[in-house]
Amino acid sequence: MESELERMREYFKTGNTKCASWRLSQLKGLLLFIKEREADIFQALKKDLGKHPVEAFRDEVGLLIKSINFALKGLKTWMSSKKVNVPKIAFLTTAELVPQPLGLVLIISSWNFPLGLSLEPLIGAIAAGNTVVLKPSELAPACASLLVNLLPTYLDTRAIKVVQGGSSVGEQLLQKKWDKIFFTGSARVGRIVMSAAVKNLTPVVLELGGKCPAVVDSLSSSWDKQATANRIAVAKFGSCAGQACLAIDYVLVEKKFASTLVELMKDSIKNMFGDNPRESNTMARIINKHHFSRFKNILSDLAVQKSIVYGGSMDEENLFIKPTILLDPPLQSEIMTDEIFGPLLPIITLDKIEDSIEFINSKPKPLAVYAFTKNKQLKRRLEAETSSGSLVFNDALVQYVLDTVPFGGIGESGIGKYHGKFSFDTFTHHKAVTRRSFLIDAWFRFPPWNGHKFML
Ligand code: NAD
Repeated sequence: MESELERMREYFKTGNTKCASWRLSQLKGLLLFIKEREADIFQALKKDLGKHPVEAFRDEVGLLIKSINFALKGLKTWMSSKKVNVPKIAFLTTAELVPQPLGLVLIISSWNFPLGLSLEPLIGAIAAGNTVVLKPSELAPACASLLVNLLPTYLDTRAIKVVQGGSSVGEQLLQKKWDKIFFTGSARVGRIVMSAAVKNLTPVVLELGGKCPAVVDSLSSSWDKQATANRIAVAKFGSCAGQACLAIDYVLVEKKFASTLVELMKDSIKNMFGDNPRESNTMARIINKHHFSRFKNILSDLAVQKSIVYGGSMDEENLFIKPTILLDPPLQSEIMTDEIFGPLLPIITLDKIEDSIEFINSKPKPLAVYAFTKNKQLKRRLEAETSSGSLVFNDALVQYVLDTVPFGGIGESGIGKYHGKFSFDTFTHHKAVTRRSFLIDAWFRFPPWNGHKFML
């Protein structure tokens, strides 16, 4: 591995990856890979996660095409140096920010959006002109094989390598010297990544998870109520069966509105997945037996079981869990203390919706806070008084699609940001270049000053 990495470092030094033409050609290669191999991608996502092709296009393929096109369009502007203003005291000085690639970077990704979470950061790394090693997750093996076997035929393999393997390969990679490490995964492994990075003072981006709450206000219009139920249901159960870092982890609702919300959500789930969701091919499967057992364990707690108001059935052979709603499970049970990352949705009732702010603030800062409300004061308070990677009113997950807002966490939900131009900046050093004229020097720069009348 070391000699391979050395060759990549040497290749970076040739300057090829810095040229706009190289960056554009690689982005176009990536686009071609996605378009030409769309059928293989759908097949791999079906095999690894049971994702329906429409879901796969909506959440991964389509988003990647959008992001590559955005980078292709913006690249020349992003790459250009930007003049900056200087204070009057620095007369006869000009300054600019000159974007430069970092060098050799490492991307380690997760299994739940195995294409999206591998290639979205790769777009930024390539656009910024870096050489890149990508290690996808071993838990989505069909997608990892696809990336290892097919992606290289579309890209410059002197600069971009895909490495297949699990935690031991990840550990070996972390021992090497990188110019940046971009990691998507759990906080546990995030800590391992950060400790390894300390040795060489390597900057890291950690895209982690956590418990994203959805605050649901007591809405009055039936349209708004149904839209809320539909949007919560699709964000929780309709995107990788809740195995998403941005999925709604739990709902906070006023007691008086809870039963209405549960009934509406039952309708939404039935409309989306039918009476027998196991038979429908529209809901993704649990990634593996290990995660399936985790959910079995969560639901084996009797107090948690008693709180189930919808769903709860499981089919271990097909790794399927019916969309499940729980009303007021114990706050100290695993379902309310750890990230759920699956199709179980606890609804916690509160006396007043404003109590949601204290509830959210009593937990680690989440990747996202969602709030379904028309109450302007509540919106203002949530904006001002809670802290999260993103805040979305009246929907969930949509923030992931936007290229113009950064995607990333805060506190335990992550460090750093990407998407759109933020991805380019994440993999770029904006060097401060200052230029001076030889013409004049101010007298006060140079001692001695004793002759000057206003000196003491
Ligand atoms: P994980 O941390 O177990 O694995 C992530 C990656 O790290 C995999 O490629 C894995 O092979 C590698 N890895 C595992 N152990 C390692 C080690 N010791 N050294 C080096 N690499 C190692 O996480 P996961 O199960 O893939 O993903 C689930 C978690 O990721 C959840 O917490 C979820 O919220 C989070 N997540 C966050 C985002 C985001 O964009 N913020 C996206 C998806 C998932």
